[in-house]
Amino acid sequence: MTPLGSVATYSGRVAPDDLGPTLLHEHLFVRQPEVDRALPSPEWDEDAAVAEAVEQLNGLRDRGVRTIVDLTVPGLGRDARLVARVASAAPVRIVAATGWYAHGGLPSFFRLNGPGCTVDGPDPLIELFVRDLTEGIEGTGVRAGAIKVLSEADGITADHRRVFEAAAEARGAADVPVFTHADPTTRGGLEQLDVLGRLGVPNDRVVVGHVGDSGDVPYLRELAARGAFLGFDRFGMAHSASDDARVRTLFAVLDAGLLDRVVLSHDAAIHSRMTPPSWRRAHTPDWHLHHLHDAILPRLRREGLGEDEIRAMLVDTPRRVLGGPAHEGDR
Ligand SMILES: [Zn+2]
Repeated sequence: MTPLGSVATYSGRVAPDDLGPTLLHEHLFVRQPEVDRALPSPEWDEDAAVAEAVEQLNGLRDRGVRTIVDLTVPGLGRDARLVARVASAAPVRIVAATGWYAHGGLPSFFRLNGPGCTVDGPDPLIELFVRDLTEGIEGTGVRAGAIKVLSEADGITADHRRVFEAAAEARGAADVPVFTHADPTTRGGLEQLDVLGRLGVPNDRVVVGHVGDSGDVPYLRELAARGAFLGFDRFGMAHSASDDARVRTLFAVLDAGLLDRVVLSHDAAIHSRMTPPSWRRAHTPDWHLHHLHDAILPRLRREGLGEDEIRAMLVDTPRRVLGGPAHEGDR
């Protein structure tokens, strides 16, 4: 396996040093293709959604952001052609991800097809992830620059484990980072690191997601001690935790000397079928791509954080995450 040297994006490969301020955990369009076909959302208009995404990315660019990672993988309705339309018109680079969002388990196709399954054969998850990493996603030629895996409050089930195994195997084709969705209430990130580590994924190639929502500082210290990155990646997501609590936890983690492990993002979306725009306007009005720069960074500055520290979380650490170990020591 060769180190990346450059990062795949919708607009071509980019040197890690050129990524600039980066939001590592976002979504453009979270969809439910089968539901959407059977029961179309009254709030979905494809052209309007693309225009809205371009407008919001223009706003991000105005705020200084240069790159976002769209962690919308299959299982969340990934549609690379749609994101490519946005990428061709937006002034912010977009990194694509492969993986499978096996929330509640894998689709029955994967339960019936694979090693030891009814239709015995190679694991189609591995075929998918490797193709996304080496040939491109969904026929677009855009290669994935990240892999996303998930486990929930009940731990790593057999289905989740299969995705973890496929992710580890596929990383043989490209040394991309693994982003996890970890349940913030159950210290699930530790089990994720255990399993990924045994599968050969170094802990310092893993961003444990959503841990900024946990408030459990000893847990975060333990994750960092193992070398993982800490995703404070849900600013504005009011139904999961308050920003007051996230900021408190963030300062506790920084006081513990873990600045170089922290990354910041929103886990927001332009359009989600799960929590549609009308619901977000009513219940989570701050949960959008501009919230960090409009409200959280000014607050962090007021509470004493310096520009070097903000730069570390938005530029230097994302560069090391996406660029790989070759960029670990070159600050
Ligand atoms: Zn997410």
